[in-house]
Amino acid sequence: MAKLLRAGGRSSTTHLFSIITSKSRTFSSCSTINHETDLKAPPPSPSVLDRKSLPLRHDHHPVQWVFLGCPGVGKGTYASRLSNLLGVPHIATGDLVREELSSSGPLASQLAEIVNQGKLVSDEIIINLLSKRLEAGEAKGESGFILDGFPRTIRQAEILDGVTDIDLVVNLKLREEALLAKCLGRRICSECGGNYNVACIDIKGENGSPGLYMAPLLPPPHCASKLITRSDDTEEVVKERLRIYCEMTQPLEEFYRSRGKLLEFDLPGGIPESWPKLLRALNLEDHDDKQSAAA
Ligand SMILES: [Zn+2]
Repeated sequence: MAKLLRAGGRSSTTHLFSIITSKSRTFSSCSTINHETDLKAPPPSPSVLDRKSLPLRHDHHPVQWVFLGCPGVGKGTYASRLSNLLGVPHIATGDLVREELSSSGPLASQLAEIVNQGKLVSDEIIINLLSKRLEAGEAKGESGFILDGFPRTIRQAEILDGVTDIDLVVNLKLREEALLAKCLGRRICSECGGNYNVACIDIKGENGSPGLYMAPLLPPPHCASKLITRSDDTEEVVKERLRIYCEMTQPLEEFYRSRGKLLEFDLPGGIPESWPKLLRALNLEDHDDKQSAAA
């Protein structure tokens, strides 16, 4: 672990990653090393985030990161890959709830009641589960973590602050048109339950904004004729889901932005395009040789 977490890309922290909302132009301008990109990129705007100011402290201690992102953005996938790469646990609070429910733990019956009544699991219970998970991990010699699905509100973020230190909050973003297409392209095999995506997103670049390509995830032939669409994956429902997410998380983004901990990252495409750029944004380029381990 120590070797994995040694000081790395600090010397190359001149990259800038800009973060602009999905409606406006997206670009990433790189350091002087990449003249080609620099020439194409518009000049940095005041909203450009200088990564040097971010607390990317994985050269000193294991990462304690939070991942944020809209439904459909692939947050779990990237969080999981990074946790493999860095050797830290990927803790998804949804999994913690499911695990507790299927256990005979002290909260199981209380949780079952809440979930069966269709109520939201309280912040206190989630924090309780999370603290237990972190303590159990520490006892096993784990250190660091990547949180996925928590916090979702400022109140939760404040409670989390009292429990542990968060170094960095990675906010994954994808243009709304691509998110929508991805959500609408989801298919499930009615026989084996396999998850696929038939959307082939190929947005042409225009007026200086880059194009975006995301390959479909097609089913094998034996599933192809058995695909079904989830009934709540309609355009109307997906749009509403995204709207609610944005409304709920904007204050949270502001909370971490004002503390200098928010790294906004616009996904430039599917995993093949996005993964190397995400590593660069996180000062993890020197982990490139470990990519296969995370695949
Ligand atoms: Zn199948």
